[in-house]
Amino acid sequence: MWDSFKSELEGEDRFDAAGYVKALCANSKIQIRETSFLNMRFLEGWKSLVEELIKSIRVYPIEIESIDDRLNILNVHFFTLKTTREVNVWRAIHKAQMRSLTTCANCGATKQPTRNAQQNAFFCEDCKENAHKINKTGTWLDRY
Ligand SMILES: [Zn+2]
Repeated sequence: MWDSFKSELEGEDRFDAAGYVKALCANSKIQIRETSFLNMRFLEGWKSLVEELIKSIRVYPIEIESIDDRLNILNVHFFTLKTTREVNVWRAIHKAQMRSLTTCANCGATKQPTRNAQQNAFFCEDCKENAHKINKTGTWLDRY
């Protein structure tokens, strides 16, 4: 059962977080190593907050190591290249993190903030109700 669950999640319509981040970072000072694309793991509902984050830090020469949704919050790791106003990048990431707590990871709707690491913590009420139909649990387990 686990295998079919997994293969369904890996279907072709699955949101390509790495491709999305790669496109956002094109023509910016942000670099991403080919090997880091595996570390881009988040659901479609957070597209706009990731877009806003990248746009606000695109002038800084940094290398993004990962953007993921572990712990039910947006996590971003980066290295600074050359001299960077690193504090500005941290501020932008913190802002995006706070937004990720109130943004449904599935549909992007505003939801109640929760630190609940249990099932469905990522999703708004509507998506929680439909979670069994869309085959997602609303936790980081959806990634595996
Ligand atoms: Zn939702």
